[in-house]
Amino acid sequence: MTTPSQATISLESLRFDNRFIGELPADPLSENYCRQVFGACYSLVEPTPVNAPQLVHYSKEVAQSLGLSSESCESELFAQIFTGNKLLPGMQPYALCYGGHQFGNWAGQLGDGRAINLGEVMNPQGQRFTLQLKGAGKTPYSRHADGLAVLRSSVREFLCSEAMHHLGVPTTRALSLTLTGEQVLRDMFYDGRSKFEPGAVVCRVAPSFTRFGSFQIFAARGEKKLLQQLLDYTIRTDFPHLGEPCREVYLAWFSEVCVSTAALIVHWQRVGFVHGVMNTDNMSILGLTIDYGPYGWLEDYNPGWTPNTTDAAERRYCFGNQPQIALWNLTQLANSIYPLVEEAEPLQQALALYTEKFAGGWNEMMATKLGFKRFQAKTDDKLITDLLQVLRLLETDMTIFYRQLANFEIDKLDLLQTSDEELIAPLLDAYYAPEQLTAAFKKRIADWLRSYLYRLRQEGVTDAVRRMQMHAVNPKFVLRNYLAQLAIDKAESGDFSMIAELLELLRNPYAEQAGKEAFAQKRPDWARQRAGCSMLSCSS
Ligand code: AMP
Ligand code: MG
Repeated sequence: MTTPSQATISLESLRFDNRFIGELPADPLSENYCRQVFGACYSLVEPTPVNAPQLVHYSKEVAQSLGLSSESCESELFAQIFTGNKLLPGMQPYALCYGGHQFGNWAGQLGDGRAINLGEVMNPQGQRFTLQLKGAGKTPYSRHADGLAVLRSSVREFLCSEAMHHLGVPTTRALSLTLTGEQVLRDMFYDGRSKFEPGAVVCRVAPSFTRFGSFQIFAARGEKKLLQQLLDYTIRTDFPHLGEPCREVYLAWFSEVCVSTAALIVHWQRVGFVHGVMNTDNMSILGLTIDYGPYGWLEDYNPGWTPNTTDAAERRYCFGNQPQIALWNLTQLANSIYPLVEEAEPLQQALALYTEKFAGGWNEMMATKLGFKRFQAKTDDKLITDLLQVLRLLETDMTIFYRQLANFEIDKLDLLQTSDEELIAPLLDAYYAPEQLTAAFKKRIADWLRSYLYRLRQEGVTDAVRRMQMHAVNPKFVLRNYLAQLAIDKAESGDFSMIAELLELLRNPYAEQAGKEAFAQKRPDWARQRAGCSMLSCSS
């Protein structure tokens, strides 16, 4: 998806080649009612028609990857297709069967309860993309729910998918955000105060939407043949470089999932992203960020923070727990493919590889955030440990802190002569209550800065070069929770301009962007306790 073509085609010329449903067994029943689906990877199901499809916004990069022209994306037909009202020739809609552990407990069959895949597009360069509508109506996996999505959560998914991509974080993409013209009843905080909200659909795009839970469901049901069929298919399609599926290749595959998951979590920790619901059904086997629900961005650096009110008591999925939760989830995936491997040792080795890759990746990531070419355990272990304590002395905005760190001019500084006050001045912007910085706090920060700047000097890089390198990994602009909420507030009143504005801003999260400084500032005080800004739930 990184090399969009300039050549464009119309919607009608999109070429579909639906391998998944061509090669894997379907639910024999075609009626659309909720049930346990056995012996199948998916159910064929049509999206539910809606009243008044309306395009809110689309991602021009994703459209380009598919080869679609802007005229196609702005056409009435586009809104009809991507709300699920019309199908293009070659589309064969289906919902996937998967299971998962939710908050640590096995939940049995989950599946695409409100996602419907339209098919697999081959773009003019021969790349493949699965198109999936989120919020297009009930499927056999909808359980007790309505299969719909509301504007608020769809704006969040649309903007964040694209923002993550531009930050360099692996993610599913979002082609479009549309309104259905229908009202959807939601109890946002499960407190009995339901209200109607505008219905919306996001068209998500990824090479595949296979999850850890896609394998778990067959293992849990003892459907070993199906488990093997799905794994063989996954290896042939998403991991063709591993060769023909066999026991050794299953292990190589699992190792690769461990490695890409480690890389993903390193990215999340780098940019301050908290997924919020790291259930095993929300883990992509491609190491992509998937299922944007009650996610959030760290404002003040607090490893215990989670945006998800449903998880407020346990904080299972808080920022600081993400690395170990990913390992827990990988362990469940290992258990589910065990029947095909029948030996624990190599699976454990792959899990150990996750731990090793995460630790190494995290060290290197922290080193680059700090402007070091390489991580040097001898000095940097302590520097980083101390830094994480300094960041927790007082409420400190993580994004601003790292961005400002790049602005020190070490060539000019006399580390011994400069007072604590002067030394820490460039960082004050990152503090939510700078007046609470006591002399003792200032000394801690200044002491850390002195050791840090001393270490930087050994790199022998000019201030300008180092600033450029640090700015390339420490974003200036992230989708701050309150910014997304402001865009939602406007969109709910019919004004979509801020969605477009944020998408444009977040296309270049590492650039300075003159005139856009307001978007890089600390969360305003009003947003501290506002629903949607710091508190979200799974209700979407
Ligand atoms: P999530 O927390 O969004 O990952 O969803 C967990 C499970 O609940 C998945 O199987 C979803 O498909 C299903 N689900 C969530 N919201 C809805 C909804 N409004 N209608 C039907 N199924 C849903
Ligand atoms: Mg999910």
